Amino acid sequence: MIKLMSENNGIFSQFCNLTPDLLDCDLHIHTVATDGKASVKEVIVHAEKIGLRRIAFTEHVRADSEWFFKFADDVRELGRQTKVTVLVGCEARILDNKGTLDITDTIRRECDVVLGSVHRFPDSTGGYLAFSEVPAQEFAQIEFELALGFLRHGHGDVLAHPGGMSIKFGYGFPNGLLRQLMRKACERGIAIELNSSYISNMYDFCSLAREENPLISIGSDVHKIDELGQCRNILKEIL
Ligand SMILES: [Zn+2]
Ligand SMILES: [Zn+2]
Repeated sequence: MIKLMSENNGIFSQFCNLTPDLLDCDLHIHTVATDGKASVKEVIVHAEKIGLRRIAFTEHVRADSEWFFKFADDVRELGRQTKVTVLVGCEARILDNKGTLDITDTIRRECDVVLGSVHRFPDSTGGYLAFSEVPAQEFAQIEFELALGFLRHGHGDVLAHPGGMSIKFGYGFPNGLLRQLMRKACERGIAIELNSSYISNMYDFCSLAREENPLISIGSDVHKIDELGQCRNILKEIL
């Protein structure tokens, strides 16, 4: 089912509508439940301290992540005890060019925010390519096709770290491809993530976002507590 912008529960704003208040959030956080270093409680306490208004716990999940339901309950319980708005989310891998996410409908229903991420490149036999074997000139295009598939067909709220693998492995991600992803995201009412851990040039990203004006999700991809609010801090400097 196509999700329209107005159905995104007002969690995301279009880039050109971002006001200083709306920047006070972090919507990409990992905890000790997966590969983060801090607990949910520690993150919430720190969020209060640094003046964030809204945070989303977006743990890595797979379709068989049965632990997630208890985790989601715990997050909601702790969220009731703070003035910070606490959202339950997850980060799910994009499995193919059709945008299939490694998630079940039951996990999805538990979430306020579902991030779709390219983390691996599938091969033709149901496995994954070793990044070292992917030809340099094809790298960004492969990542682009997976991300585009998610935006076209995927059932998620946010394309997380667009071009992130290409940037991480040193190939860069062309602005032309990023622009196409932003356009498709606008069409589908899916947010594009402004992820301070992966974007190599925040100015370039923001000037494209200003032109295409997609819904934006602000996330630091927090793994350590002092990374919380990092994306907000950068944006407050440059916007
Ligand atoms: Zn990720
Ligand atoms: Zn992440």
